[in-house]
Amino acid sequence: MNEKNGMRILTDTHSHLHMKQFDPDRVSVLERAKKLALIVNVSTNLCDIDDTIEIANSCENIFAAIGIHPHDSGNVDKDYLNIIEQKVIAQKRSKRIVAIGEIGLDYFRNISPIDIQKKVFAEQLMLAQAIDLPVVLHIREAYEDVYDILETVGVPEKRGIVHAFSSDENWAKKFVRLGFKIGIGGPITYPKNDLLRNVVKIVGIENIVTETDCPYLPPQQYRGKRNEPIYVSCVVNMLNEIFASDVSEQLLRNALEVFGLIKLNRVDTND
Ligand SMILES: [Zn+2]
Repeated sequence: MNEKNGMRILTDTHSHLHMKQFDPDRVSVLERAKKLALIVNVSTNLCDIDDTIEIANSCENIFAAIGIHPHDSGNVDKDYLNIIEQKVIAQKRSKRIVAIGEIGLDYFRNISPIDIQKKVFAEQLMLAQAIDLPVVLHIREAYEDVYDILETVGVPEKRGIVHAFSSDENWAKKFVRLGFKIGIGGPITYPKNDLLRNVVKIVGIENIVTETDCPYLPPQQYRGKRNEPIYVSCVVNMLNEIFASDVSEQLLRNALEVFGLIKLNRVDTND
C-alpha cells in the first residue's frame, strides 16, 4: 500500500460537486475532498459551467471539465460552442479547465432527439480538437454510434476518458486502441458486476482511471446514499484487489497524463 505515514493517493476524474444534492453541506464535502490528490468536476450544460469553474478555482486539487451532456443537447443555446470556447480562453492563465465534457450519446434515457445528440456531440469533438483539450465521454447504449462519430469527425489529439464505462471487453479494447482511458467508478464494487471486473483485467491498469460520478453511482458500501469524492477509496480498494497490488499511484499518473497535468500531490488520508 502507498500509505507511508498515512499517505494515500486517491483520484476522482468525474464529479459533479456543484449539483444541488451538495447544497446543504458542500463545505464539508469539499473539506473531505481535500484528501484526494486530484478531482475533475464536470459540467453538464451551459447553466452550470460557471459553478463548475468556481469550485475548481476555489480548491487547489480540483479542476474543471465543461461541455454539454447529451440529455441537455436538445435545448442548448445556439451560441453554445462560442460560449464554451470563451470560458476556456478566459481560464487560460489559471489552467483550471482541463477537458471538454461530459459529451456523448445516451440512448438509454433518450431525453434529447438522437439527431441533435449526434450533432452537438460531433461539434464539441471538433471544438476539443480546435482548442487542444481531451474529452470526457458519456456513452449509454450508444457505443457503436459514438465510435462511428469519432471515426468520422476524428479522435481529438489529446484523447480522453470513456466515463462510467458500461459495456463489454470488445468495446473497451476498441476505445483503448483509439487512445482513451476507461473510467471506472462505484459499479465495479457491485457484487454482480463480474463483467466490469473482467473488463479492467483485460484492458490493464495502465488504461484505467477512477471516478465517482458523484452525487450518482455510489459504491456498494454506500448504495442508496449520495456519493462523494472520498468514496472513490472503495473503487481503488477493489482495483487493488483485482490487480493484487497497490495501483493508486498509477491511477493518478494515468489521470494526470490524460488531463495534461504533471503535479503529483501526496495527500493524507486515514481510511
Ligand atoms: Zn457525470
